[in-house]
Amino acid sequence: MTSAELFDRGSRVIPGGVNSPVRAFSSVGGTPVYMASGKGSRLTTVEGRELIDFCGSWGPLILGHAHPEVVNAVVDSSRDGLSFGACNSREVAMAELLCDCVPSLEMVRMVNSGTEATMSALRLARGYTGRSKILKFDGCYHGHADYLLVSSGSGLLTSGVSTSKGVTENVVADVLVAPYNDVAAVANIFKAHGDDIAAVIVEPVAGNMGLVKPADGFLESLREITSDHGSLLILDEVITGFRLGATTYGNLAGIVPDLTTLGKIIGGGMPIGAFGGREDIMRNVAPLGGVYQGGTLSGNPVALAAGIATIETLLEENPYERLAKFAAQIKSVAEKHAIRCETLGGMFTLFFTDASSAPANLADVKKCDTDAFAGYHRAMLEKGFYLPPSQYELNFISAAHTQADIDAFTNALDEVFGG
Ligand code: PLP
Repeated sequence: MTSAELFDRGSRVIPGGVNSPVRAFSSVGGTPVYMASGKGSRLTTVEGRELIDFCGSWGPLILGHAHPEVVNAVVDSSRDGLSFGACNSREVAMAELLCDCVPSLEMVRMVNSGTEATMSALRLARGYTGRSKILKFDGCYHGHADYLLVSSGSGLLTSGVSTSKGVTENVVADVLVAPYNDVAAVANIFKAHGDDIAAVIVEPVAGNMGLVKPADGFLESLREITSDHGSLLILDEVITGFRLGATTYGNLAGIVPDLTTLGKIIGGGMPIGAFGGREDIMRNVAPLGGVYQGGTLSGNPVALAAGIATIETLLEENPYERLAKFAAQIKSVAEKHAIRCETLGGMFTLFFTDASSAPANLADVKKCDTDAFAGYHRAMLEKGFYLPPSQYELNFISAAHTQADIDAFTNALDEVFGG
């Protein structure tokens, strides 16, 4: 059965034919490609076509598809049972591993997705501070909890507007929104609402509007302002955790958050999430404290086996420098063709824009030519590359990508943009 046939069948029984909207090809045209298998840096479609993958399941697969250590860990742990609904030794091992790798994590709780991690961290922040409002940044994505599907309203900086139907006004009223990298806006919001803000949640490097880096001093200022007002700083490291080193971006950058959220890489491709931080805050989580949080499958032994194997392999192989080198090669070829390319470690985004400086926020990113992006996406798919189907996404290089894969990609860029 072909991708087109599967999409046709799937669209009758699955909304839009996809189980997550980012998989739809609506912004680049055409229909989604259906995958049969993945190995190393490659995906194989149901038609039997091999594609070099730079989506990496949206981030978890830093070791590539079906890494032998990870697959063996999953197979071995599956044989011992798929779920216990009771405590297991891997929960202890994973919590110790995360706390060892990330000094600001004094205690950690495992959940099943990044959404659960951010949702739980924010409930904890509200429970701990006794305050109701949260501050987020326009263009940052933190999962699909109601109060996180809020963006800045046009005109009024601080008034959030829902980005999804079904999110009530009451929920939106507790969400304040500022442009990314805008310390003055944050300071103004704190001047007006400081005593009511439970937490600021931020992607320390924004990845959900394409790659937008924090300006010098941005995260430091957030740390200072939140501390001054008794609010918590939550670094959402669902993308950046273990991405640039076997730790968090916060730890590498010397920013000590109150809470951190994790997902993606720490599950090695299995459903996972985690939130953790200061012990005095984490002690408010049930059963120790009054902030309820739970899950039938939380701390699932098979997901943890995959995550532990992934983190241990990262600690052993330390592929980070090589990933950054590959991204730098892509950047230099893209820029030869006058395409802006932002990179950090093994992450990159090609921005189709005439702007003379790197995008600093969502308003900058929105100036990009999405038609040009769609043309690029179609051409690269034709040439055998699977890329996230949107301008507003990150590409991920994995440890399984070879020099030949990267050369193939840059050669394809030369061909598409006229050598
Ligand atoms: N936080 C960030 C920064 C993310 O990029 C995502 C998902 O892409 C999430 C949270 C939500 O994670 P999940 O899709 O696992 O619920």
